[in-house]
Amino acid sequence: MNKTGKVYLVGAGPGDPGLITVRGKSLLECAEVVIYDYLASSKLLSYVPDDAELLYVGKKGGSCHSHSQEEINDLLVKKVMEGKMVVRLKGGDPFIFGRGGEEAEVMYERGLPFEVVPGITSATAAATYAGIPITHRDHTATVAFLTGHEDPTKEHSNINWEKLATAAGTLVVYMGIKNLPLIVEKLVAYGRVPETPVAVVRWASTPRQRSVTGTLANIAQVVKKSGITAPALVVIGEVVSLRSKLDWFEKRPLFQKRILVTRTRDQASSLVVGLEERGAFCLECSTINIQPMEDYTDFDEELEHLGEYHWVLFTSINGVKYFFRRLHAKGMDARDLKGPSFGCVGKATADVLFQYGINADLIPETFTGEGLAKSLLDQGVEGRNILIPRAKEGQEYLPETLRGAGAQVAVVPIYQNIPEDGQAEIVRRELGKNGIDMITFTSSSTVSNFIAMLGVESKEELQQLLSGVKIAAIGPITAKTVMDSGLNVDVEAKEHTVDGLITAIASYWE
Ligand code: SAH
Repeated sequence: MNKTGKVYLVGAGPGDPGLITVRGKSLLECAEVVIYDYLASSKLLSYVPDDAELLYVGKKGGSCHSHSQEEINDLLVKKVMEGKMVVRLKGGDPFIFGRGGEEAEVMYERGLPFEVVPGITSATAAATYAGIPITHRDHTATVAFLTGHEDPTKEHSNINWEKLATAAGTLVVYMGIKNLPLIVEKLVAYGRVPETPVAVVRWASTPRQRSVTGTLANIAQVVKKSGITAPALVVIGEVVSLRSKLDWFEKRPLFQKRILVTRTRDQASSLVVGLEERGAFCLECSTINIQPMEDYTDFDEELEHLGEYHWVLFTSINGVKYFFRRLHAKGMDARDLKGPSFGCVGKATADVLFQYGINADLIPETFTGEGLAKSLLDQGVEGRNILIPRAKEGQEYLPETLRGAGAQVAVVPIYQNIPEDGQAEIVRRELGKNGIDMITFTSSSTVSNFIAMLGVESKEELQQLLSGVKIAAIGPITAKTVMDSGLNVDVEAKEHTVDGLITAIASYWE
């Protein structure tokens, strides 16, 4: 029996991928085919199953349509007839200037099943993200959405400009940038006061958002001067004046800052989330790819003698993860770790250790290798057996200091950092067009791998390439590696954690 297909017209929201509905997201998660537009955030595609078919039918406005509406309709029909679960993902709301109505009609006419999931339309999002409530008890009780796509001087216009000009307190114009001079002229000619405040918001709700304000009399001039182009919305009405008090989005500390976050490929990017939460636009660049060791003979031997150790020290989250990965592979678990005490370089590492069932016995006040060494020296380490399972490329400070104080220290590599390639070109291109304001480093190895990846030949070349770019480091060791490479450190986190780094970066730009 043939499976019946169905199309879901889903509103993707205005741009911020967080603004899709819960229903929209769960449909994407089980889609077999996704047919999507230019204005739908590409980040939403990460919810789609790997084996689903992704079809881009983007329209970029103006004349460069990549697919005609008829072709899109035919595609929808074809996929549904094949029995597929199709998500037709459309920017904003499918039924507001999205031609969703036409697509649904095609389904109706063919007798094919469909559902529609509304989305946050860009008009409300743009106003909200520009700090403008589109209705307000003191200003207006009415709002109208209109398209400015059509030339308002056309003889038989679909819009009754004469009635519209003063009918609604707030007017929001989609697709109105090209015709803006003609639109404002019409509104004033039909009685709207020229001093009426106007805002134009481009790429609303995204890190690229940009707004300008003026009045009906001068907004066309302001937009022309600012170089604002589509996609943008025009908000007209007294409510626009509230923006001076309510502009919450563009006032966030890192708004319009472009930050390159260097990280390892498998690291959950809480740094990116935290920076974006404060308004930054993050470019992620993996400098290292964490891999298991080819050979675990040395480590397995230590596992046999674990009971003889007084301390096991973890200097990174990955150290903990790979330690337990190997332990489990050997058929062991946390119950086999009786004997030694456990020390962690910082709280994040200790938190991960706790997830594996072990409560750290020691976390230094300062979350660095030096801090850990100092805490242990304070306890006395003479004659103690200490195991440090860590990256193949780790720092020597900790083991050497402990040995200097009379401890027997075994350093065993349990994972390795392999440099990533293929990203240098993207980074160089962004640097070339001044597209990066700051680079963050969360470990010495991200610094050295980043520099190795860029393939520079000298300190001078590196300084020149990164001139004008601010550098943020998670702590003193990372900062020292940055300075040793010939660069300045502009921000150093006081608390050597990802949260500490985010706080330091935000206060630097404030
Ligand atoms: N269905 C969509 C509208 C599609 S029409 C919705 O409900 O939002 C395309 C127009 O929408 C663009 O020309 C622009 O005017 C507006 N638009 C869409 N996304 C926008 C955004 N993020 N910022 C500003 N305007 C946007």
